[in-house]
Amino acid sequence: MKRVIKSVPQLDGLEPYDPKYLPAKALISANESPYDISEDIRAEIAQAIAQVPFNRYPDPLANELRDMIAQANGLSRDQVLLGNGGDELLYDLALAYGCKGRKMINVVPAFSVYALNARLTDTEVVEIPRKADMSIDEEAVLARVAQGDISYVVITSPNNPTGGAASHQFIERLLNATDALVMVDEAYGEFAEQSCLDLLKDHENLLILHTFSKAFSLAGVRLGYYLGSEAVIREFIKFRQPYSVDSVSQAIGKVVYSHRAEFMETARELAAAAKQLAAALKEMPQVEEVYHTDSNFVLFKVPRAGLVWQMLYDQGVLVRDFSRGAGTTDCLRVTAGSPEENQLFLSALENALRAR
Ligand SMILES: *Cc1c(COP(=O)(O)O)cnc(C)c1O
Repeated sequence: MKRVIKSVPQLDGLEPYDPKYLPAKALISANESPYDISEDIRAEIAQAIAQVPFNRYPDPLANELRDMIAQANGLSRDQVLLGNGGDELLYDLALAYGCKGRKMINVVPAFSVYALNARLTDTEVVEIPRKADMSIDEEAVLARVAQGDISYVVITSPNNPTGGAASHQFIERLLNATDALVMVDEAYGEFAEQSCLDLLKDHENLLILHTFSKAFSLAGVRLGYYLGSEAVIREFIKFRQPYSVDSVSQAIGKVVYSHRAEFMETARELAAAAKQLAAALKEMPQVEEVYHTDSNFVLFKVPRAGLVWQMLYDQGVLVRDFSRGAGTTDCLRVTAGSPEENQLFLSALENALRAR
């Protein structure tokens, strides 16, 4: 039998992605919504899917959904691009603006996907660490882009896994300081109720990412979108897989987006629940640090976090363990769940900390 040729060097030593989902009573590890789509909306979705011609290719650009999103944001159709989840659009960012010899700025700790995509496209990652309270070192980012050799910058607002939003004023200063593409990942923007959308009209180099996976309860469906300048969106259309957003996802997205006011209300409740979790964590003497959150999750620091994670899991509570990550030593991240899940988490954590 012939051996197969080696894959590209970027894959050397890389492990396949594994989110490590485990069954549990309280699944509060992946920043998903605890609430599935309601029966009423499900019935509407079923009707919409019944009309989908399965034998035909989808509309490549999902123009009907694209128009709905454009209109809701006061933009033109050409400023919106749908993708197979935000993750696909992040991949396209690295392909369209990164390559060997180019550099991107990653403000760490950050969502792991950015650095992975940069690596796959041979783009050099310039890391700018956050301050001790996990806020952005704004002056360091501005000083680095001033060197003039950066192709794209990723700012996540609110940031995952740390939870806090970036300041609007900082993003405006950054856009004025560089011609690099500034991608503001607002995957959790609905929880923060703040956005840099208004900056689009004066800044061709701004690109904003949103997803249906968090506030819109659709992590299982795979829909995300960019809002940007026509010039930048056009470049992405050259690079993207033309049929990545299938007809069924488009049909579901249209129904869910037409109900967005209801989802925004739930997002407000989940953001409030995350703040309550943060307040309760601050009351626990063994918890060393609780980072500010503008999102639906909280990052906190507790000694021997790996052991605490296991003790929580033994009680049916799955949170995300960041304790071995760079910049997040001894940190766990908990997603705001239903009131019952949040209560279960807090009592399980109290048990775990008392038992030690
Ligand atoms: C969840 C998330 C996304 C997008 O996720 P998709 O499910 O692929 O849409 C993007 N950025 C951050 C920071 C996220 O946490």
